[in-house]
Amino acid sequence: MSELIKPHGGRLVHTVLAGEERDAAEARAGELKKIALNARTLSDLELLAVGAFSPLEGFMGKEDYERVIHETRLRYGVVWTLPITLAVSSDESKELSEGEEIALLDSSGEVVGVLLLEEKFHYDKKEEAWNVYKTDEDKHPGVWYLHQRGDTLLGGKIRLTRRSLLPSRFENYKLDPAETRAIFAQRSWRTVVGFQTRNPIHRSHEYIQKCALELMDGLLIHPLVGKTKLDDIPSEIRLRCYEVLVEHYFPTQRVLLSVFPGAMRYAGPREALFHAIVRKNYGCTHFIVGRDAAGIGGYYGPYDAWDLFNHFDRDELGITPLFFAEAFYCQKCGAVGSAKTCPHDSRHHVALSGTRVRELLQLGNALPPEFTRPEVGEILGEWSRGEWDDGPVRE
Ligand SMILES: [Zn+2]
Repeated sequence: MSELIKPHGGRLVHTVLAGEERDAAEARAGELKKIALNARTLSDLELLAVGAFSPLEGFMGKEDYERVIHETRLRYGVVWTLPITLAVSSDESKELSEGEEIALLDSSGEVVGVLLLEEKFHYDKKEEAWNVYKTDEDKHPGVWYLHQRGDTLLGGKIRLTRRSLLPSRFENYKLDPAETRAIFAQRSWRTVVGFQTRNPIHRSHEYIQKCALELMDGLLIHPLVGKTKLDDIPSEIRLRCYEVLVEHYFPTQRVLLSVFPGAMRYAGPREALFHAIVRKNYGCTHFIVGRDAAGIGGYYGPYDAWDLFNHFDRDELGITPLFFAEAFYCQKCGAVGSAKTCPHDSRHHVALSGTRVRELLQLGNALPPEFTRPEVGEILGEWSRGEWDDGPVRE
């Protein structure tokens, strides 16, 4: 294990209670005041507890929150780009006192964890929107979510008493940071590149992953299966695409496919860096940063994320970004490449808009093999009556 990359901040947090400790916490929870979590905060709670958000041990207090918003660092200086917070309404917060324990409930009313409320504080949503999302427009899903939230944030350490279950298909692929690290160690991977995605895999993604894999010991394909906006491709479809792709086109002993149960914020560059730091906690030494990483609409420049990574010292990040320009199949090259490797005009490049992909699928036509592997195209075809994003699918 000693050869693996250190977790962010140096120590892998683990606050999942088990055995007697859990029983005691659950028994005590009956007497505590209670707060209901939503899909996002429930997922944050679990990721905090398993150490995916190390060094965070709970929902952020004011000092961490302010410094992250304004300086992309935690209060002790460690790089961190997204606020991880728990909001309640002002009315709800009046009932809660600093220093007390609060039971956290899932949507069915079951206790899933305990928060030691260290501080409650007001926050400026406009300030957060502009700093994190670079806009305060409600049509940005991250900003929309922010505006729906309560006006008071609750900071404090958490402990998890009950794991949430993903749909069974995903549950088999769910691995905690300690588990992916153990697998990497067992496979003697010293360099591991992480790939985050919320889209079905096309040839361009496969190309990028394989370019990285040429240089690395292993590849962690880590699709996000938490809450995304409604018109993203459902996680189940994406997972099936990955399964067939890995089975047919990857050396399975050099690839680990696992799901990341996090929620998308669509915060562009800040979220791309956050995704990298989180994958470092899972044991990755390198992370693929593509075009418009974690972006949406036209809110971020296609390669703004690269600038943010470059803003920090590599030693400070710990994980090394691998920057990939947009890839495409070029008919002249007879191969997938990018502007870095293909000298030809774009009319030789096979690129399909989301609308065109939808049309082809609805007509029962196969997607061009230069664009999508037939096994993947078949799955997308089966799902073709779903709603497609109108933006380009070849992100
Ligand atoms: Zn070319």
